[in-house]
Amino acid sequence: SAHRIDVVSIFPSYFDGLTLSLLGKARESGILDLRIHDLRDWTSDRHRTVDDTPYGGGAGMVMKPEPWALALDDLAAGSDRPTIIFPSPAGEVFHQKTAREFSEREHLIIGCGRYEGIDERVFEYAATLGEVRLVSLGDYVLNGGEVAAMAMIEAVGRLIPGVVGNPDSLVEESHEDGLLEYPSYTKPSSWRDRAVPDILLSGNHAAIAAWRHEQQLARTESRRPDLLSD
Ligand code: SAM
Repeated sequence: SAHRIDVVSIFPSYFDGLTLSLLGKARESGILDLRIHDLRDWTSDRHRTVDDTPYGGGAGMVMKPEPWALALDDLAAGSDRPTIIFPSPAGEVFHQKTAREFSEREHLIIGCGRYEGIDERVFEYAATLGEVRLVSLGDYVLNGGEVAAMAMIEAVGRLIPGVVGNPDSLVEESHEDGLLEYPSYTKPSSWRDRAVPDILLSGNHAAIAAWRHEQQLARTESRRPDLLSD
């Protein structure tokens, strides 16, 4: 059965890029059932209002709870406790292992916040419908959840069997084994006075594998020592 991902946003056209390339093909072939929704479709006033001023004061606007509740009711209907993801700079950090976990779920719903975020009670309400996850792309602040949602959809989507043509290319990537990826080269073997490392032209597969592993360790040690310490 197809993996279903519902996205709710006030800027659905952000997601037009997901018709391209591998994910676009996966959608066409039916492996990935990705549906983009406009939160304003669940408003009923003339102005299609989704925000209001914050209780307690402070700058900015907060997303009203009712349109979110109506959207979640509709999208979760008939689904057995979907995973409901809210991109948030105040959430757990998204990692490759999070992507893998989400890729094993049949139904994801992603709610993209804007302004100062969503009324807190929406997260409590969502927990009555499914498993709620607040997920951060990293320690910086974006204007909205859309870019974070797109990053997650790409990372999750490429792990769904059949999306990436050659499954071996997934295994050898950065972060899959806790290390950064080894350097890659293509033709020509000498380019602007720079040669490809001899070992890669040797045809000795065991020696190449050992060299690549050394490169992974050296890079990880110098660029991301934090990955080796835990
Ligand atoms: N006031 C919020 C705070 O300080 O936690 C930030 C709100 S931000 C301007 C608006 C929306 O962008 C958030 O509701 C969230 O959906 C999204 N967002 C911002 N930074 C993010 C990040 N690092 N990861 C994931 N989503 C993010």
